[in-house]
Amino acid sequence: MLGLMQNHPLLISSLIDFAARHHGDGQIVSRRVEGDIHRYTWKDVQQRAKQVANALNAEGLNAGDRVGTLAWNGYRHLELYYGVSGSERVLHTINPRLLPDQIAWIANHAEDQILCFDMTFLPIIQAIHAHCKTVKKWVALCDADKLPQDTGIPNLVSYEDWIGAQSANYSWPVFDENTASSLCYTSGTTGNPKGALYSHRSTVLHAFAAVLPDAMGLSASDSALPVVPMFHVNAWGMPYSAAMVGAKLVMPGPAMDGKSIYELMESEKVTFAAGVPTVWQMLLNYVGQNNLKFSSLKRTVIGGSACPPAMITAFREKYGVDVLHAWGMTEMSPLGTLCTLKEKHKSLSEAERNAIRMKQGRAIYGVDLKIVGADGTEQPWDGATYGDLYVTGPWILASYFKNEGGDPLEDGWFPTGDVATIDADGFMQITDRSKDVIKSGGEWISSIDVENTAMGHPAVAMAACIGMPHPKWDERPIVAVALKPGAEVSREELLKFFEGKMAKWQIPDDVVFVDSIPIGATGKMLKTKLREQLRDYKLPTL
Ligand code: ADP
Repeated sequence: MLGLMQNHPLLISSLIDFAARHHGDGQIVSRRVEGDIHRYTWKDVQQRAKQVANALNAEGLNAGDRVGTLAWNGYRHLELYYGVSGSERVLHTINPRLLPDQIAWIANHAEDQILCFDMTFLPIIQAIHAHCKTVKKWVALCDADKLPQDTGIPNLVSYEDWIGAQSANYSWPVFDENTASSLCYTSGTTGNPKGALYSHRSTVLHAFAAVLPDAMGLSASDSALPVVPMFHVNAWGMPYSAAMVGAKLVMPGPAMDGKSIYELMESEKVTFAAGVPTVWQMLLNYVGQNNLKFSSLKRTVIGGSACPPAMITAFREKYGVDVLHAWGMTEMSPLGTLCTLKEKHKSLSEAERNAIRMKQGRAIYGVDLKIVGADGTEQPWDGATYGDLYVTGPWILASYFKNEGGDPLEDGWFPTGDVATIDADGFMQITDRSKDVIKSGGEWISSIDVENTAMGHPAVAMAACIGMPHPKWDERPIVAVALKPGAEVSREELLKFFEGKMAKWQIPDDVVFVDSIPIGATGKMLKTKLREQLRDYKLPTL
């Protein structure tokens, strides 16, 4: 027997219609590429997204056609999020920090028909346009009078001219909620990048889960700042979840340095922000050096790579900002776990509670987790036994775009490539990427533990731990360290700092001082590059 409830497909257009109708005057604030601040409302987003939809119709784009973006977090990008997906086309967000050749490769693989870009990226477009065979129109995200004349790019138009010619009179089409809505390629550190193709259903369900109190806990009373880019897994879904609850949305544009982010947070009374640890480190450095305080910021989601414990305590204890450590992947839309405490943890000491906060957290409804040992069996949730982490759920990838790489699932579960423990309360802790785990004398050493410990030293800005071949132990860890400007610490002092904080055999054999740790296109450490840099390195113990 079927239930007798109305059957509305879960479509992304319903999010912007809701925000426009129920939070029509809710503010959207963006720092533009030009440096000035732009303000308007959810109602304006809806109207201009409809102009985008009409512009795509005028170009003759079919349902399912891809529209690429190379853009910062800003209002025009937001309009494309809704106008492209809402009109049944697929929004393909491209990471502009990739090399031009990689960008062209991705645009060709996705068969983008139109490519919209911020003016920051004009030189990239000039370098690649001749190689992008499927792109028939280039749209510069700027006012008509900001478009230079002699770019050499054919079929180039300013966004304002492009949508300005269209009316906002448009009815969103209604279609199957499993229709593709947006496309995001994984960084491709091993082999070519692969596309994760999200659907309207997966995106709306993910937004429902993201706003739950034990997840991001977003509401209409929040002023929310996604520092995480809209080209990086849809800014962790915030353009959708902010619309779902009618939060004020504040977008930083290209200005991601500590000063710019801090000033935006203060002027827009930001209560909630989300980003990767490297960005928060820049912010904390700026705030610390200038003796500042956060006057409105209440909580921040940190994820994308392991959040150093020192960062969690700095935010909480120095500034009264709650940190939600979160874990996910492009293939998971991206949210999998967030770390919020349970009622039973109220009776614990602050130190015990902090130890839990360092973990990547509990699954949100919709995501299931399991860890699997080398023998293929599921491992116990005891907080000590580690295994390969698998996930399943309605916003987790079933296969890659164009079926690249074949069927990735194993018995319906997606292998994350992470190694983790899960404790009896369901709190998951990532030990490593499986390829970064250090195998020493048959035991595994967590490179994340080594890095977190090193970053607890006041002189250390960033640390990366890698394994070096060893004839007796297989591998031994060393830690590459970049110091804070002006700070000093010796190799011996730093090695001593590990004593008592880790088991003896887990302490790195050596410290290598470097000017900076190589960072990839999504703000994560590039250990492959570091290994290359240290290719002639020899362990001192050999
Ligand atoms: P994203 O960076 O948006 O999470 P990616 O697909 O680029 O997505 O990378 C996913 C990988 O990043 C995970 O498999 C994991 O290795 C790592 N990662 C993400 N969040 C964390 C975290 N909080 N702690 C440790 N590693 C993390």
